[in-house]
Amino acid sequence: MTLPSPTLIWYYYICPREVWLMSRHLEPYQANPFIELGRLISNEAYAKERKEVIIQTPEQSGGMVIDLVKTEGAEVVVAEVKKSSRFEKSARMQLAYYLMRLKMLGIEARGELLFPKERKKVTVELTEDIKEELKIAIDEIKRIIEQDRAPKPKLIKFCKKCGYQELCWA
Ligand code: SF4
Repeated sequence: MTLPSPTLIWYYYICPREVWLMSRHLEPYQANPFIELGRLISNEAYAKERKEVIIQTPEQSGGMVIDLVKTEGAEVVVAEVKKSSRFEKSARMQLAYYLMRLKMLGIEARGELLFPKERKKVTVELTEDIKEELKIAIDEIKRIIEQDRAPKPKLIKFCKKCGYQELCWA
């Protein structure tokens, strides 16, 4: 089964048009200051305990780059560092998707979302409801990608931060 990349899961919960643009390998404008800030926070926060893990799964599309992996007793915990909780839903579902993909590889894990600027931590678990929601998202992403044309742009709060602004609103 071909699965979408974790990045597409994140974008799906923000904007379907962005999913389509990403799927065509149209890279967002990299000079966008918010993209840079995200990278900076991602690189600096938790630098001491950071153990970035890249998991490539050839039979599935889109490898996973996990920010932190740690063990707490017998439990495996994977964590993602985000610059703000403004798009928490996207971040939660992306992390749940990591948990689902790890489970497919035989690894049971719990997730933690870390928002260092807000000193906030959110636990993410792969519940039956979240698994069901992910299945719907995966099907919907496939449907969006198969379309010949991108979904029409819709003005949302994220547009101000989006690297595709020029493609949508110029
Ligand atoms: S600018 Fe707005 S509509 Fe266009 S891809 Fe980004 S979020 Fe979507």
